[in-house]
Amino acid sequence: MTPPIYHRVALIGLGLIASSMAHAMKQGGLAAEIVGYAKTEETRRIALEIGICDRVCATAAEAVQGADLVVLAVPVGAMAGIAAEIGPHLMQGACVTDVGSVKQAVIDAVSPHIPAGVAFVPAHPLAGTEHSGPRSGFATLFRNRWCLLTPTETSTPEATARLRALWEAMGSNVDEMDAPHHDLVLAVVSHTPHLIAYTMVGVADHLRRVSNSEVIKYSASGFRDFTRIAASDPTMWRDVFLTNKEATLDILGRFTEELFMLQRAIRMGDGEQLHAYFTRTRAIRRSIIEAGQDTAAPDFGRVAPVAAVKAGE
Ligand code: NAP
Repeated sequence: MTPPIYHRVALIGLGLIASSMAHAMKQGGLAAEIVGYAKTEETRRIALEIGICDRVCATAAEAVQGADLVVLAVPVGAMAGIAAEIGPHLMQGACVTDVGSVKQAVIDAVSPHIPAGVAFVPAHPLAGTEHSGPRSGFATLFRNRWCLLTPTETSTPEATARLRALWEAMGSNVDEMDAPHHDLVLAVVSHTPHLIAYTMVGVADHLRRVSNSEVIKYSASGFRDFTRIAASDPTMWRDVFLTNKEATLDILGRFTEELFMLQRAIRMGDGEQLHAYFTRTRAIRRSIIEAGQDTAAPDFGRVAPVAAVKAGE
């Protein structure tokens, strides 16, 4: 077995992303020791019970001591407070990284607290589920998924290369880009689609003419795919929209213009325009499958739930 990439990894926040990293690091022997900290006693207790950490600490300051990698895996809005607390306790030569879904706001919040002699290499794994908490993690979450690094002036080439090696060893493909570009790309591929899903589920909830039971009963017609996204963690997503405000509003503006254009085509009975538009969007789905980012199986390879099969639906 190859030697561990890091001697001691401190995970600050022990939810879906941190626990998945812990499983992957343990499976691959990538860290000699994993130390954890989360806000509540309950999460720290679970982390020990399920074995994702070798030790847990009662404070973040204590957890980062002697760690050569510190991973900030808390909601984006909590990063500044944590960084201020751990700053004076970081080991010389250590690397601090984060997994936040927004990059420029995290860089602005964390960088002022990084002392000289410590590298800060922001990262964002493009992998997740609608579940949260320490029990939701699994070792293969990052496999064949992208992890984007957005190095800053406090990232040394050595620290960036070592972090890249960790993400690659956990199964990710790694790319580097600057933070503003990351935030714009993510507004298109993740943040705005989440907002649209939240809105669509909200609309259905308000639509009293269609009873709740009908919305649920016929949800496989497409609505349920929105509900999976709209079931994502409310704290995480509140912070994403508060901190990636400009890029999200930019993309939302473009979305609204397209929506009005399609609305007009429907009103005018312009079938040609609708058909041309849907032909273009279908091609995008094909390119996602060709890039290995989803399955070509019908309905995402989903097996019909037993209850529905029994009912002959
Ligand atoms: P999660 O499952 O909800 O877990 C969040 C963790 O952060 C919990 O352990 C929580 O502790 C801890 N925490 C919250 N506030 C804290 C504070 N002030 N001090 C210390 N610990 C605190 O979250 P997650 O999905 O892993 O997300 C973590 C980060 O990854 C976020 O920045 C998110 O943007 C990013 N991310 C998420 C996804 C995704 O799909 N979920 C994908 C990529 C990146 P308690 O349990 O004790 O409250």
